[in-house]
Amino acid sequence: VSRVIPVDTFDLVIFGGTGDLARRKIFPGLYRRFLAGQMPEGSRIIGAARADLTEAAFRATVREAIDEFVPEARKDAAVIDAFIGRIGYVSIDAKGTGGWPDLRAMMRENVVRAFYFSVAPVLFGDIAERLHEHGIADAWSRIVVEKPFGRDLASARALNETLAKHFTEAQIYRIDHYLGKETVQNLMAVRFANILFEPLWKAEYIDHVQITVAETVGVEGRGAYYDKSGAMRDMVQNHLMQLLCLIAMEPPYHFDPDAVRDEKLKVIRALDAVKPEDIVRGQYLAGGGQEGYVAHSENPASKTESYIALKVHISNWRWKGTPFYLRTGKRLRARASEIAITFKEPPHSIFDDAEGWRENVLVIRLQPNEGMNLMMMIKEPGPGGMRLMQVPLDMAFADALGADAEDIPDAYERLIMDVIRGNQTLFMRGDEVEAAWAWADPIIQGWEERGMKPQGYDPGSSGPEDALMLMHKDGRRWREIR
Ligand code: NAD
Repeated sequence: VSRVIPVDTFDLVIFGGTGDLARRKIFPGLYRRFLAGQMPEGSRIIGAARADLTEAAFRATVREAIDEFVPEARKDAAVIDAFIGRIGYVSIDAKGTGGWPDLRAMMRENVVRAFYFSVAPVLFGDIAERLHEHGIADAWSRIVVEKPFGRDLASARALNETLAKHFTEAQIYRIDHYLGKETVQNLMAVRFANILFEPLWKAEYIDHVQITVAETVGVEGRGAYYDKSGAMRDMVQNHLMQLLCLIAMEPPYHFDPDAVRDEKLKVIRALDAVKPEDIVRGQYLAGGGQEGYVAHSENPASKTESYIALKVHISNWRWKGTPFYLRTGKRLRARASEIAITFKEPPHSIFDDAEGWRENVLVIRLQPNEGMNLMMMIKEPGPGGMRLMQVPLDMAFADALGADAEDIPDAYERLIMDVIRGNQTLFMRGDEVEAAWAWADPIIQGWEERGMKPQGYDPGSSGPEDALMLMHKDGRRWREIR
């Protein structure tokens, strides 16, 4: 199963190469691609950051990152040495001139040049500008932009305009790492490579959709950043929106970047304004010996939400009348992300066991235990008569792939290799991001203008009480977070 798509020789520059994301995800991920044989001879990775480090000192930090974040079974001393040998470093100041001529001198002709902006978003514009000014980027260069992409429509638009001064849309790769997850891509395969689901994939047969991204961690350590963001900006406008788009979009004519992104954009544009009564915001309280949100945010009066649940309607032919319930939060009972598609009742039951009946649900689990479950009704085995019971048709990817499951690339590794291949399918286009902010802005303004406080919820719970009511009042229930 382990097939590796060949890519061209590249120079990949990681701005923010000494940062947390580079250490935890980017370098360990690149090492795994190297190990898998996907990094052509002669390809290089150049760390660029403010710290005044020698190449040897920077290489030592990468070695430590691999040691800490790559599983033991994937560590091979000789491969690590060879990988480290591909790494360079340049000390650079995004806001000044220092280091840029050095970087210019390192660039080679006739290789793919990619620049990963793994730095605070305030520096995105500066780096784009410097790359241009110093003649470091050519017409084939690609830039990779981390999240957050703006904090509202105006700032996202401004950022798009800044990047557009020096790069075409085809050169800009806006990362949403959710799109790099194996299960998320599999969602498209399941929808569009099977005849089974698509005929039922509409309001006529689907009662509702639930999208849940639950975390157990709080915002400790990043409180100052998070307090200006909140769950709506940090998770819903980007990650949950992308998941919603992949479920709700029309079949693209081809699995091709603009065909897919055109269909996603149409979904975002068809979203209704969300009514205030269909929004529940929460903030985790202290409990179980742990601090509450306000201690982490360091603002005792913070009104930022660490949890949000929303009921969303899509006004188009396919989805009219089928609500999408979205929820995401921190300090919840379990770390679990899933999409659950609940189908309607059969039109007529021939069985007496009405209580035994449950809806068909297609559950797509993003984490943990990536896989899919189709909840089906069958006859309860045994002599008890025609009694119904629900069982899962279970497809855990780890089982399907056997020993190769370990080799499934992590979202970041896959996405970085897509950049090198020049494939934008799994990256957000500028108009998509703006449309998502255009939808989110009035929702956020609604509570900011009224100074609304989120409802407290206990750490380790499944969120605020009112979130349960959001579904109860429609005669529905959230799935358990576990
Ligand atoms: P970080 O603060 O750990 O690292 C920042 C990096 O930027 C450092 O390498 C630093 O040297 C460099 N830098 C700062 N100022 C600079 C300047 N003037 N010139 C050149 N380099 C400079 O940040 P991080 O957590 O690694 O995040 C990087 C980006 O990734 C941010 O946009 C963040 O929002 C995004 N992101 C991070 C995570 C994560 O888990 N850490 C997750 C998703 C997105």
